[in-house]
Amino acid sequence: MQLIDADELFKEFENHAWEYNTGREEAEDILLRFPTVDAEPVKHGKWIDTREKLYPRCSVCGEMSIDATHTNKGMYCSSCGAKMDEKE
Ligand SMILES: [Zn+2]
Repeated sequence: MQLIDADELFKEFENHAWEYNTGREEAEDILLRFPTVDAEPVKHGKWIDTREKLYPRCSVCGEMSIDATHTNKGMYCSSCGAKMDEKE
């Protein structure tokens, strides 16, 4: 499944209306009939080394992760679910 933001697509249709003349209304009708899903945007963060050097801290929620250590940092924050792929 590929999730897209239909609101952004409608804006695209509006901003470039002259490019989407053919079939635009049909496309909008189809999009409006499709079911929506509950999805939260993915939060991106990074582990921050703490002064105590025991456990790293999440850059999003600030919680120390007792699941992660400085040598084996998890891919997700166990407190807020942020994906730890943010670059320095
Ligand atoms: Zn967090």
